[in-house]
Amino acid sequence: MLAVPSSSTERARWSNWAGNQVCAPTEIVHPSTEAELADAVARAAAAGRRVKVVGSGHSFTGAALTDGTQIVLDRYGRVLDADPVTGLVTVEAGITLRRLNAELARRGLAMPNLGDVQYQTISGALSTATHGTGITHGNLATRIRAMRLVTGDGSVLECSREVEPEVFHAARVGVGALGAISTVTLECVPAFDLHAVEAPERLDGLLADIDTHVEGNDHFEFYWVPHTGWALTKRNNRTTRSPARRPMWREVYEDVVVSNWVFGALCRVGRMRPQAIPRLMRAVPNTGPVDYVDRSDRIFTSPRHVRFYEMEYAVPRADGPEALQRVRDLVHRSGLFLSFPVEVRFVAADDIPLSPAHGRETCYIAVHVYRGMEYHQYFSGVEAIMDDYGGRPHWGKLHFQTAETLAPRYPEWDKFQQVRARLDPTGTFANAYLDRVFGPIGS
Ligand SMILES: Cc1cc2nc3c(=O)[nH]c(=O)nc-3n(C[C@H](O)[C@H](O)[C@H](O)COP(=O)(O)OP(=O)(O)OC[C@H]3O[C@@H](n4cnc5c(N)ncnc54)[C@H](O)[C@@H]3O)c2cc1C
Repeated sequence: MLAVPSSSTERARWSNWAGNQVCAPTEIVHPSTEAELADAVARAAAAGRRVKVVGSGHSFTGAALTDGTQIVLDRYGRVLDADPVTGLVTVEAGITLRRLNAELARRGLAMPNLGDVQYQTISGALSTATHGTGITHGNLATRIRAMRLVTGDGSVLECSREVEPEVFHAARVGVGALGAISTVTLECVPAFDLHAVEAPERLDGLLADIDTHVEGNDHFEFYWVPHTGWALTKRNNRTTRSPARRPMWREVYEDVVVSNWVFGALCRVGRMRPQAIPRLMRAVPNTGPVDYVDRSDRIFTSPRHVRFYEMEYAVPRADGPEALQRVRDLVHRSGLFLSFPVEVRFVAADDIPLSPAHGRETCYIAVHVYRGMEYHQYFSGVEAIMDDYGGRPHWGKLHFQTAETLAPRYPEWDKFQQVRARLDPTGTFANAYLDRVFGPIGS
């Protein structure tokens, strides 16, 4: 274990991927075993310091910030056990999704669904209810079958549906409030390929027949291109067709040159000359159709080099089209110039207390602005719309809610708070973000 204590004047400064959250921890610890992880928590708690485990820093909120002990799990990311028959795979919490996907593929396994990128750690992704798209698929945390948690006093607690079921029920999406996740057992599926079809379509036609698209594909999503009537659609379906990967030049051209370099240049021009954005956006739907087959994780995730700020809301699936139309009206009326498409995804209902998809089939609507651009007017306008549908924010993405406004949106809020009060009675894992979104411990 490497601990880097520093004086308050020389503290190492940490910032997240988007660069909008910074902190200066008193000490930074890199445990490489569960015993070292537990020891780091116990020592910090005994010294009255708060503790935060940080993943890859891909949250836009202050969820991972601390001025106490920062625990970095970059030496704690191995696969501990993998059973190709049951699909049960146990990993250390710091494994990145990229490494997990590669390790699963080597064993003939895969995650049944993933989000857009694979930079996150598994524990960071699970803690904020990271999700992909596909109406028969829950968010990533619905695949957890067991966990080991280091709680506020440094002791280790194992939980599953059979052992400590109340803790397990809540801890699958814990937003870092219930302890330090040490290991996770996930139920994976046999490896599979996906057939990806991407094409621009008119937004109005798409929304008129949205259920057919959502139910007729394993994984359907679309991006509405602001200032236009177009949407870029993505349909990913399981296939047994032999892989027809894009040639390397095409993969680099589409995923790096167009999606990152050209798009990044468009965003930079837009930041300097916002009035030019609507004209630039009209060029986006001309990127042309895409059709190929590849390994599932290579289809689900792609590189993201253009940095941005993001807010994402979960609303009941049936309200999604209307909520999106209202976002479209807001953009039209407000005179905002937006260089980032609005992403729309669909996820199955689940039973996890703090999952934004708790108890309802969900439509996720995500809005972004290029890093360094003002987002308050846009995001607060969108949030006001989502409030009308009982919208629940992504825990890792920007929002302006508080415990008071959030509690009524989660039927099992109190169950979560009870587990929090039991596992972390003195607030060792608290920080300003958790104080804001959950309120005082025991509330
Ligand atoms: C480019 C980009 C693309 C994204 N795409 C998607 C997407 O497609 N779908 C989606 O839903 N989200 C997406 N996100 C959001 C991202 O998945 C979440 O914010 C996720 O939590 C980030 O994981 P991380 O490892 O970076 O964790 P961090 O952001 O570092 O931490 C997130 C939270 O997890 C806690 N945590 C981390 N490890 C532990 C642990 N071992 N024990 C206890 N708590 C822990 C932290 O304390 C913090 O509260 C995206 C973000 C970016 C920047």
